[in-house]
Amino acid sequence: MASRVVVIGSGIGGLTAAIALRAEGHEVEVYDQATTFGAIGAGVSLGANGTRLMDRLGLGPALREVGSDLHRIQFHEWRTGELFYEHPMGDWYTGRFGAPFLGLHRADLQQVLLDAFGSDGVRLGRRCVAIDETPDGVDVTFADGSSTHADLVIGADGVRSTVRQHVAGPDEAVFAGMSCFRGLVPVDKVPGGDRMGLTFFLGPVSHLVVYPVRRGELINFVAYTRDEAWTDESWSAKGDASQAVAAFEGFNDTVLAMLGAVEDTGRWALFDREPLRQWSTGRVTLLGDAAHPMLPHAGQGSNQAVEDAAVLAHFLGQPDLPVGAALTAYETVRKPRARQLQLGSRGNAKCFQVPDGPEAQARNERLANLPDMVSWIHQYDAHAELQGATA
Ligand SMILES: Cc1cc2nc3c(=O)[nH]c(=O)nc-3n(C[C@H](O)[C@H](O)[C@H](O)COP(=O)(O)OP(=O)(O)OC[C@H]3O[C@@H](n4cnc5c(N)ncnc54)[C@H](O)[C@@H]3O)c2cc1C
Repeated sequence: MASRVVVIGSGIGGLTAAIALRAEGHEVEVYDQATTFGAIGAGVSLGANGTRLMDRLGLGPALREVGSDLHRIQFHEWRTGELFYEHPMGDWYTGRFGAPFLGLHRADLQQVLLDAFGSDGVRLGRRCVAIDETPDGVDVTFADGSSTHADLVIGADGVRSTVRQHVAGPDEAVFAGMSCFRGLVPVDKVPGGDRMGLTFFLGPVSHLVVYPVRRGELINFVAYTRDEAWTDESWSAKGDASQAVAAFEGFNDTVLAMLGAVEDTGRWALFDREPLRQWSTGRVTLLGDAAHPMLPHAGQGSNQAVEDAAVLAHFLGQPDLPVGAALTAYETVRKPRARQLQLGSRGNAKCFQVPDGPEAQARNERLANLPDMVSWIHQYDAHAELQGATA
């Protein structure tokens, strides 16, 4: 059993892992290159596979307090806004999957995690630049020249992970040929916003995913558009409302009103990476986007990071299990599911954006089976899965 654990990255994955590992009795410290806390102004949705694990960490009440229970799912035609598919969520979803589907402001989720872990356990302004494994532990060096020693290092440092390079060597990010505008709009500026659950507007080369966050006070949108030329991955590439409105010309009035009302929007090119064969070396492992960056089209990147955290903490909490064996067991449980979602998320993009006419019609008819099609994702209980897993 490891004792001093260093987590690189204080995103959703890193903080959840830190909380879960501390609950197993480890001494945990988190390091992040950011100089201040401050999640980007955007939403994130957690399905039952994520929220049931948050419940087990004791974070359920705080998340329900700041989140929005997504009470239904709706699909709309892009030009007219016509509703062509609807299904209840809310009580129906919780009854079927055993935990809620929540829309959250990222800053609210980060605050819940920081309150639980304690922000004094997070060292800011520390960019990890090198990892050296020695027979008795791991040395981590930061860009400011400082260093720390740990029994185990967890790389939760996102899609451009430094720790991933130590574990698996360099690889290329894969551009999806698509970018997105993201933003938050006061609910009263979005026509029908107070009735929105998880809402999709599907067009042939563009689509939007829209849902309430922060107790329904704000509407979060992600507006995806296919564009092979726009590859800037930086959130600092600020967009403005007029760019978003222009990119979604021809969409219905609800969409255009929402995009036009945003005060602060960014444009983000979408990248993932190929699944890794190996997530760990002797005393270093990966978690979340560092291990399995995926496109957002299944809404699962954060959920998978939370599942990783639960499984890793479980194996590292086994008193008689050596660290190497615990990391092998962690990978064995997590790799197939993360891989399936990485590759599946790529496929979903092709399903959201299809030409009008017979192809869209066929896709819309398949939606009748949507609850069954996605139940393998939302029904998954990482703890139940571990009952049968051997280390
Ligand atoms: C448009 C969009 C919508 C999405 N919607 C959803 C959704 O609805 N549901 C969902 O589950 N997922 C969603 N995702 C995916 C989700 O955002 C990510 O999967 C998730 O944030 C990954 O969390 P993480 O903790 O692994 O990494 P990150 O959140 O990227 O955190 C990594 C942290 O590591 C730090 N860091 C990086 N390098 C270093 C270094 N060298 N040294 C120290 N610190 C470092 C960074 O500063 C950062 O704080 C979406 C993604 C996108 C792009």
